[in-house]
Amino acid sequence: MNPEQLNYFRQMLVDQLNSLDENAGNAQGKLISEPKNLPDELDQAAEEDNRRTELRIRDRERKLINKIKETLEKIENGEYGYCKSCSYPIGKARLEARPTADLCINCKDLEEQEERQFGG
Ligand SMILES: [Zn+2]
Repeated sequence: MNPEQLNYFRQMLVDQLNSLDENAGNAQGKLISEPKNLPDELDQAAEEDNRRTELRIRDRERKLINKIKETLEKIENGEYGYCKSCSYPIGKARLEARPTADLCINCKDLEEQEERQFGG
């Protein structure tokens, strides 16, 4: 990949990282600024559901943030764009759709097949 392409993907990842950081900040602010007094048990159950969903989303966001940071390091190290399993280039189209991809489409398919097979 040439420096121009690397810059392009770096920018894409940084944008993604920034918007994730903003979202995380907003969600936290909301939790603190809206203490709720819910007398109804159903409301409490719904609130508990919401909280769990929010935690799950937050957890996924945190993982994605880590993944993006790892990927940015790869760009700096010149390791970006290669499959971690077979070391072939991942392909620009796939990276455009998913800049944090670290497996080529063949290895990804294989991994998903194995996950299905072994109940992942
Ligand atoms: Zn591969």
